[in-house]
Amino acid sequence: MSTDINNLRVNGQRLWDSLMELAQIGATPKGGVCRLTLTDLDKQGRDLVSRWAKEAGMTVTIDKIGNGFLRRPGKNNTLPPVMTGSHIDTQPTGGKFDGNYGVLAGLEVVRTLNDNHIETEAPIEVAWWTNEEGSRFVPVMMGSGVFAKAFTLEHAYAAKDADGKSVKEELERIGYIGPQEPGDHPIGTYFETHIEQGPVLEDNKKPLAW
Ligand SMILES: [Zn+2]
Repeated sequence: MSTDINNLRVNGQRLWDSLMELAQIGATPKGGVCRLTLTDLDKQGRDLVSRWAKEAGMTVTIDKIGNGFLRRPGKNNTLPPVMTGSHIDTQPTGGKFDGNYGVLAGLEVVRTLNDNHIETEAPIEVAWWTNEEGSRFVPVMMGSGVFAKAFTLEHAYAAKDADGKSVKEELERIGYIGPQEPGDHPIGTYFETHIEQGPVLEDNKKPLAW
């Protein structure tokens, strides 16, 4: 059976359902989400996304700063992966979508490829990056910053929250210090889907999505 790739569509309902399920972890009374990085709730979110990835046949690799790489093999696994992703931590008054959308949209692409028995040439990876928000620990964009060598792992590990707990302690406590060296990982190409953070596109009547 050949699949008409031009008419391939993700399953929007399944993506929506996953977003709603993840949003229950740290749900706030007003309909938002409070799931600060490296808390018990963050661990629950990571565990859930990891389970979904494994159910989709992906492997889950965690690096030393707790970034997650959910990998679907390709035909040629010597090629660097096509990567997409975002973050699943939130601000104290965060919403259901934000980075969660970027991670789960990537997962939905993989689920759709699986449904249609499509093999890609290069592997696909969906990344979550640790502590994008920076509301508990600074610097912001910590996981991607260590990965990109904008600062060192030791610098990130030493960051402390208002209670004096360090990033390293909290990563260890929730079980998300992995073996992989951050950045020791070639990427073929990377793109990120994300909600619009302001009204500019909408005000200018520009398309927000296709
Ligand atoms: Zn975001």
